[in-house]
Amino acid sequence: MFSTFEHIIKEQGFVIIDGALATELEARGADLNHPLWSAKILTEDPAMIKQVNLDYLNAGANVIATASYQASFMGYERQGYSREVAIKLMQLSVELAIEARETFLLSGENKMNQSPLVAASLGPYGAALADGSEYRGYSNVSVDELMAFHRDRLLVMIETNADMLAFETIPCLDEAIAIKKLLQQHSSKKAWVSFSCKDGMHLCSGELFEDAVKALTDSEEIIGIGVNCTAPQYIESLIKIAKPLTSKTILVYPNKGETYNAIDKIWEASANCDPNFIENARTWLRAGANAIGGCCRTTPSDIKQLNTLLLIK
Ligand SMILES: [Zn+2]
Repeated sequence: MFSTFEHIIKEQGFVIIDGALATELEARGADLNHPLWSAKILTEDPAMIKQVNLDYLNAGANVIATASYQASFMGYERQGYSREVAIKLMQLSVELAIEARETFLLSGENKMNQSPLVAASLGPYGAALADGSEYRGYSNVSVDELMAFHRDRLLVMIETNADMLAFETIPCLDEAIAIKKLLQQHSSKKAWVSFSCKDGMHLCSGELFEDAVKALTDSEEIIGIGVNCTAPQYIESLIKIAKPLTSKTILVYPNKGETYNAIDKIWEASANCDPNFIENARTWLRAGANAIGGCCRTTPSDIKQLNTLLLIK
């Protein structure tokens, strides 16, 4: 069942990653104005999550991320969930994605020579704080503390049947280093690490994206380095920074350029909004990206458009 990015890239030129989960859940009536965000829907309407996973597979995604981005022990604990329930919900997110994949494969719609991949989504420390700090970075949190935050959940996710791990929206260098060290200690699954950036050069923390790529490129466990939840206009420059520094898969799955309002938990229009997803994707491929998808506010129809850029159709 497991296949690497390399096989997909060889077969069709690049990997199609899925789009936003939360945006789709909201479009279907889910209320995500809550500290647990999409992880809350795991308890309320798991069938809806499976359907969104399936819709992205039908749109042509080769990789679907699980609904666990905001599922953390710290986050669930703060909302009064027990440790046992938190573990079950994290496992459920993977099971739903795997069920969606089974449904998809049975439908005969899979056009690849291998099955799509399920990536267990792991959000940053800031996502569990639910205060928008994944778009700023954090001060006064040590590498050891960040390792402690990620360790428990990582241990749950590496025991699941997910094909790989996706650390997403990482805002600062220390968190990347914490993840790299943890993966070294618990190396049974490969992972990608994707950063949130505030412009074409810097992580949200203000540190250089270049330094983040350099810090991760010698990791055996990390198979991809990426940028997500970043405005589309900065992506090309970030790819060009990463490309000469690493031979790993370069993943980009930006948002639509809106600005996140962490108080009201809504996305607000900004000058960075860019509707030309497919034109941008073409530019990103030329710049050296190997995997493209979407983050907040992107939809299955955006992902479907990516199929027109594949080597084989
Ligand atoms: Zn996002």
